[in-house]
Amino acid sequence: MTFRLLPAILFFLFIFGCSSSKEFSVNNFESGIVAVAQWGGTPANDSLARKHTITHITLHHQGESFPKGKDPIQYLRNLQTWSRNSKKWIDIPYHYIIDLDGKVYAGRDINYAGDTNTEYDPSGHALIEVVGNFEEVEPNEAQLDAVVRTMTWLAIKYKVPADSTRSHRDYSQQTVCPGKNLYRYIENGYFKEKVMENRD
Ligand SMILES: [Zn+2]
Repeated sequence: MTFRLLPAILFFLFIFGCSSSKEFSVNNFESGIVAVAQWGGTPANDSLARKHTITHITLHHQGESFPKGKDPIQYLRNLQTWSRNSKKWIDIPYHYIIDLDGKVYAGRDINYAGDTNTEYDPSGHALIEVVGNFEEVEPNEAQLDAVVRTMTWLAIKYKVPADSTRSHRDYSQQTVCPGKNLYRYIENGYFKEKVMENRD
């Protein structure tokens, strides 16, 4: 009797084992994103927005130092004000922003194309910005992990192929963004590999 049950037990262990080994959850990730209203931002003017469909995921850095202890909420509020008042853009140029702790904040509505100071056309690109200047500092582990999880979530949600997951300097001659120390992980295929592992 006991032996007849064995295959069933093994089968259940197998199924349970598979489902519990899946580390990435789309729903968990999405519910962890800090919404615009939560950080004190305001929505963009829809009538000025350029609608687009996501086909690429593109990584950026802030390009300025972001010292430990600097308030990411204040940074986002200032970035939104600067984007609108000085640049005359509808909003923050990026869709998602990652802070020093790997926390992910919503920026521009993902349905609207981003903006850039360089010559590439960001329409179709989901834009991720990591705070800091990676020409000068190394990204920390929490930031690298957050980049992987944000890219994985976007890749699953918008069915973006692994080869279309790149960075700003892959499309523009005018920038070193996302900085050499973060670009290394694009160049050596680290992000691409991790996203492919997580999305299966
Ligand atoms: Zn950039």
